Amino acid sequence: KHVVVGGGTGFIGSQLIKSLSLDGVSCTCISRMPGPNRMSWNDLERYGLPENTSAVINVAGQNILDPMQRWSPGFKQNVRNSRVKTTKALADAVKNTKATVFATISGVAYYKPNDTVYTEESKCEPYDFLSRLTHDWEEAAKLPEDCNIRQVTIRSGVVLGRNGGMIKQIYLPFFLGLGGPIATGDQYMPWIHIIDLVNMFIFALKNNNVYGILNGVAPQLITNKEFTKAFAIAMKRPAVIPLPSFVLQILFSEERAKIMLEGQKVTPKRVTEVGFQYQYPNIESACKQLVE
Ligand code: NDP
Repeated sequence: KHVVVGGGTGFIGSQLIKSLSLDGVSCTCISRMPGPNRMSWNDLERYGLPENTSAVINVAGQNILDPMQRWSPGFKQNVRNSRVKTTKALADAVKNTKATVFATISGVAYYKPNDTVYTEESKCEPYDFLSRLTHDWEEAAKLPEDCNIRQVTIRSGVVLGRNGGMIKQIYLPFFLGLGGPIATGDQYMPWIHIIDLVNMFIFALKNNNVYGILNGVAPQLITNKEFTKAFAIAMKRPAVIPLPSFVLQILFSEERAKIMLEGQKVTPKRVTEVGFQYQYPNIESACKQLVE
């Protein structure tokens, strides 16, 4: 077995490679930086995928919430291309291999934040930059009908893990007792523990009956306020200082701040139907693991 992971150096990608390796699976990572067991996106275009590739995963993508990057047209283009173009390049390349499965990531920004409880079957029209991006990202992953490769897309919520994403950003302020809810904290926060997201990818690789969209979220619906409370209790710190929305809007600009200020109610209907078991189905158990 040999799995190629686009974005394998990242927070999610490196955990994926770690878990696959523990399973005895060898991996090649596609990265912009050279290194052992790596290839570049240029190599992919020029030479295609390694001959022994049995599965391909793409979790590449320029960090949207990098506070050092201004939300300029150029940066937005990077955010888009690093997802849509890498996914398209892999969709094109995988067709020429003997791989049996192609799994990619996308996000819950696909769904419009309102009172609807969304499942994988909910239909949504793109209505802003991020929702259009997720639609195009998922479209780029689609394979022709006559192709015998199983295609899976995991629409992920906020990924909770100690080494990256949101937790890495908020760990220090919470540790110092300076944490708190984002704005009112009433917005829903679709979330998943990194271990469950990685296990969901591996489950999708292993099970022939899994295909199409899976909502990469925990079964428990929570708000940002409920997350804040659970994380503060696990950290044994107070977390009462709210982060006002205007601060985020100044730091990130309105379009990006929305990721934190609005949230969708998303349930993993198909994930449960195919029999996936969560290690961290509730936020208390997830937060406990995060501070261990
Ligand atoms: P990281 O920032 O930790 O990793 C991103 C990866 O993408 C790196 O391996 C990097 O590879 C690669 N990358 C970054 N910029 C570019 C670029 N311009 N062109 C090509 N490759 C690039 O992100 P995460 O692991 O947290 O997230 C991975 C993906 O999952 C992203 O697409 C993200 O949108 C999605 N996702 C993440 C969530 C989260 O909460 N973390 C939630 C929902 C979706 P290298 O630098 O080696 O080239």
